[in-house]
Amino acid sequence: MAKKHPNKLSGDVHGEVARRFIKHDQRYTSQRRLIVTVLSASDRPLMIQQMLKRSSDAKKVLAQSSLYRNLVVLEAVGVVQRIFSTDDVARYELNDDILGHHHHLVCSKCGDIRDVRIPDSIESSLDSTLTKIAKHSGFQLDQHRLDLIGRCSRCV
Ligand SMILES: [Zn+2]
Ligand SMILES: [Zn+2]
Repeated sequence: MAKKHPNKLSGDVHGEVARRFIKHDQRYTSQRRLIVTVLSASDRPLMIQQMLKRSSDAKKVLAQSSLYRNLVVLEAVGVVQRIFSTDDVARYELNDDILGHHHHLVCSKCGDIRDVRIPDSIESSLDSTLTKIAKHSGFQLDQHRLDLIGRCSRCV
């Protein structure tokens, strides 16, 4: 059986993130907390520059000097994942089990990515079809990733 599609954690994202930090014996500092806040408020994976802009819009100071280092730690404790687009610029988002299962609309022209959610009924039939296909190859399906590639509203 493939994994169920977890809904987005209701409310307590920071509580869950803090638990992962404790498990990995790392400190959930205010800078790391700010990164999680910025990412959890976003409807898309964010580039470094977008994270910096969004934090300053919220009148918070995200230190660029330590941002990469903090993202490495956030990746290591299983909170953040790196997403690659058509433009080779790294973008970051919270892990699926925190953010909730979703897919991406990827623009092949400008590289922008937007989150998109597929109705549960379609996810279920997608999962059972993919499970069967995987089984034919002796492969046990745990999860799936599916990107929708095309042009965003600004690029069409
Ligand atoms: Zn675009
Ligand atoms: Zn899916």
